[in-house]
Amino acid sequence: MSDYNWCHGPNCHKRETTTRVRGVKGSKVLRTIKINVSGMYPQGVWKYFCDQTCLMRFIHKHYREFIAVHPRTEALETPIEIKKETHESPYWGKQTRTTITPVDNA
Ligand SMILES: [Zn+2]
Repeated sequence: MSDYNWCHGPNCHKRETTTRVRGVKGSKVLRTIKINVSGMYPQGVWKYFCDQTCLMRFIHKHYREFIAVHPRTEALETPIEIKKETHESPYWGKQTRTTITPVDNA
């Protein structure tokens, strides 16, 4: 038994690739890609999109709906520690390396 999803790319069925051609001579069509999801792969978002092009076209078409569902009304912050180290480079002279480390304050 195999489970499948149709790719959610809004124009998947318009992309001119031989992998999308279906039908018999005289009545050929470009068809939305069928994604087999019966095994371990694909995983996550790739169960719903055949590739990055279809994913990005879906996002560009529907991002306002995502934002309405998941609004960001304030900035988020991650506590960090900053460590600055100075070292002498034989080519570039005095160099400063900055290391930013998130602080786990759980
Ligand atoms: Zn697709």
